[in-house]
Amino acid sequence: MDIEFSAEDLTFQEDVRTFIKENLPAGMEMWTKRGEWFEALRKKGGWDVAKWPVEFGGPGFTPTQRYIFDMEMGRNSTPPQLPFGVGMLAPILMNYGSKEQQDRFLPGIRDGSVNWCQGYSEPGAGSDLANLRTRAELTEDGKHYIVNGQKIWTTLAHIAHWIFCLTRTSSDGPKQEGITFLLIPMDDPGVEVKPIITLGGSHSVNEVYFTDVKVPVENRVGEEGKGWTYAKGLLIHERTGLAGIQNSVFALEKAKANAGTVKVGDGTLMDLPRFKNKIGELEAELMALEFTELRSLASVSAGSDPGPESSIMKLKGTEIQQRISLLNLEAAGIYAAAWGNEPIGPGFAKAATGGYLGGRATTIFGGASEVQKDVIAKNVLDLGS
Ligand SMILES: Cc1cc2nc3c(=O)[nH]c(=O)nc-3n(C[C@H](O)[C@H](O)[C@H](O)COP(=O)(O)OP(=O)(O)OC[C@H]3O[C@@H](n4cnc5c(N)ncnc54)[C@H](O)[C@@H]3O)c2cc1C
Repeated sequence: MDIEFSAEDLTFQEDVRTFIKENLPAGMEMWTKRGEWFEALRKKGGWDVAKWPVEFGGPGFTPTQRYIFDMEMGRNSTPPQLPFGVGMLAPILMNYGSKEQQDRFLPGIRDGSVNWCQGYSEPGAGSDLANLRTRAELTEDGKHYIVNGQKIWTTLAHIAHWIFCLTRTSSDGPKQEGITFLLIPMDDPGVEVKPIITLGGSHSVNEVYFTDVKVPVENRVGEEGKGWTYAKGLLIHERTGLAGIQNSVFALEKAKANAGTVKVGDGTLMDLPRFKNKIGELEAELMALEFTELRSLASVSAGSDPGPESSIMKLKGTEIQQRISLLNLEAAGIYAAAWGNEPIGPGFAKAATGGYLGGRATTIFGGASEVQKDVIAKNVLDLGS
């Protein structure tokens, strides 16, 4: 395994740093001018779609360049893209979609003009996703599917134009078979979205109901009944992304800075050994996780596919995110309790509580921690089936 950066990689790192310095709008303008930022990334040679292959307009980064790129973007907290189009549906369309579907959907995904959401989970089909029951029945003339059923926890369905959806077209045979991948417009009169307000008081997830929704067969990705295969390949990449290592490196630095502003005796919270110990433990675990990612990149560079180590990264990465948010909460002290009202106490207190509550979900979505432990036990530690 070779995890030293080569001279070319170091030059690339410098290039990314210079690009960010010259193009990233400062302060809040980072958000109001995010369109200009993505445009600059695109002009740089497909940096707006860093993970896309060259034939679809991506930059053709090596896995190590991708790591460096993500690290530098994370360090600077650059505005993220919504994950469902660029990161999730696009690779499925590239691998399994028809040329017509690629031409029709990829441009809107790339320029952000069309929002997508992910319709996988259902009541009774979360960890056991193959248990899904939303039915898609082919009409007699073979031109449409009629879709009936319900999805749940659908992130950003309320602002999505389209949903990519796993549906059941057959109940014969093992439950992983008979699942079909459909693309459904959200403005169809048979699609109803109901909000779910989560612990932190925010609206990001929804229930989505389908009643006799008529979906043209041209909106089916790949073959009927093979949707499980298409959906599964994506999960490995989704899990690696959810580890959020680069963001955690930045978030931990921020948590240290926050704690450094909280007076305790003659010093600050950062001078207390019990607080410093927690920071030290997190830094060590974060570094170990970075090395796991680098090891995985080294094997991908050598030609292997990303494997079950994505489950280690998802499991540890999301635990670390939660522990960092807990440090912020601890630093905010009693002021954390006032988070729902006007902010009082240190400036970071309100966001600390919101971040802590919202972050509970990270060990659930994209495959719950218990499920990742099962995958690690079976496929990494070889502890039997
Ligand atoms: C904020 C948020 C956003 C989400 N966004 C989306 C989205 O956009 N699209 C989408 O399709 N889904 C989304 N989800 C759904 C998410 O993928 C599921 O919640 C997740 O897969 C868990 O499924 P479940 O909620 O049905 O829980 P269950 O599967 O019922 O699990 C309940 C508990 O049992 C445990 N458990 C289950 N099976 C096992 C097992 N075999 N061994 C040990 N323990 C087990 C779980 O770990 C968990 O603790 C989102 C969820 C959240 C919380």
